[in-house]
Amino acid sequence: MTGAPTAIYLDHQATTPVDPRVLDAMLPWFSETFGNAHSEQHVWGRQAADAVEVARAKVAALIGVEAREIVFTSGATESNNLAIKGALRFALHHGRGDHIVSVVTEHKCVLESCAAVTEDGARITYLEVGSDGLVDPEAIAAAIEDDTVLVSVMAVNNEIGVVQPLAAIGALCRERGVLLHTDAAQAAGKVEIDVNAMQIDLLSISGHKMYAPKGIGALYTRRRPRARLQAEISGGGQERGYRSGTLPVPLTVALGEAAEIAGDELAQEGERLTLLRTRMLDRLRAGQPDLFVNGSLDQRVPGNLNVGFPGVDAETLMESLDTIAVSTGSACTSASVEPSYVLRALGLSDADAGASIRIGFGRFTTESEVDTAADLIVAAVRSQRSDRSVRAAE
Ligand SMILES: *Cc1c(COP(=O)(O)O)cnc(C)c1O
Repeated sequence: MTGAPTAIYLDHQATTPVDPRVLDAMLPWFSETFGNAHSEQHVWGRQAADAVEVARAKVAALIGVEAREIVFTSGATESNNLAIKGALRFALHHGRGDHIVSVVTEHKCVLESCAAVTEDGARITYLEVGSDGLVDPEAIAAAIEDDTVLVSVMAVNNEIGVVQPLAAIGALCRERGVLLHTDAAQAAGKVEIDVNAMQIDLLSISGHKMYAPKGIGALYTRRRPRARLQAEISGGGQERGYRSGTLPVPLTVALGEAAEIAGDELAQEGERLTLLRTRMLDRLRAGQPDLFVNGSLDQRVPGNLNVGFPGVDAETLMESLDTIAVSTGSACTSASVEPSYVLRALGLSDADAGASIRIGFGRFTTESEVDTAADLIVAAVRSQRSDRSVRAAE
């Protein structure tokens, strides 16, 4: 058996633990009530189908939409692939346009889905962001062409936590008759999202970023006006034909439960996480006054902090800090030594990007963990700097 590591976990943008309430809700669906939700001719199937529909309604309620507009997927990667490839391929096949507008700081799965449809003939405009990480809605308006099918802008960035101005973007997309897709993997259950007020047409959700298990997610697909997509996975026509395959009932139940809890606790959890973030930042700054914050601090999801310490090498810092789990750049790019493309897009030098760490607070993070982690980080930065000055003096 592998026991829990004793480190302090501050990497909630990479993944979150499953909330015990979510685990309790999902467990019976593995064994006692194991039916196939698509076998509605008997009670096992009907029970499973009912559970899936309850879960679907809970996911829908979190973002203010109808249950039948929710398609269950394996996660936000699949949802983003389906939204982007699906919308473009439908449009390309029906002669309804060929152009996408997106942003350079999007998650890799969005950027790669866009790149994939260029092989089908799509064209893409990638917009830059300001030094605060935010995209200017005016720039989106200017980038939309007659043949633009889709604008894809993430709700909350996974590295720097900044919240994009979706309501303004949604209004101008609707006015121009262009679909708006948003990758809300880091936003759902963390910041208020009202899909109708924001005029979003397609929205991606990831279970494991909101205290449900890995391997489940959802895509919201608007019915009126209808967002038309070509399916990626062919088969039995489940999920209204958008996503064939037998639904993983326990995982859908888990996502529903996680969505309900997140919605109920959003405001109070947001307040608590903001206090923890402020506490961390104040303590880091007291110890290392020259630190810099990456991305807007006020247009930001409560659980994220991304800071740099000039002259420090964050990779080395992390190696010396084996009792706390934070991240340098996003988990998806940390296999390579490339500086984060998100931080580079803010205008940071390679050195400053390489001096930055992402600290992600979550539902079970405590004040004392924050204090301990802050003190360890300050000490590690101090020790790396004094090593350097000793070496420089030699
Ligand atoms: C985690 C993440 C994804 C990928 O989600 P999975 O459910 O792991 O596939 C996509 N976009 C963003 C912004 C993310 O943070």
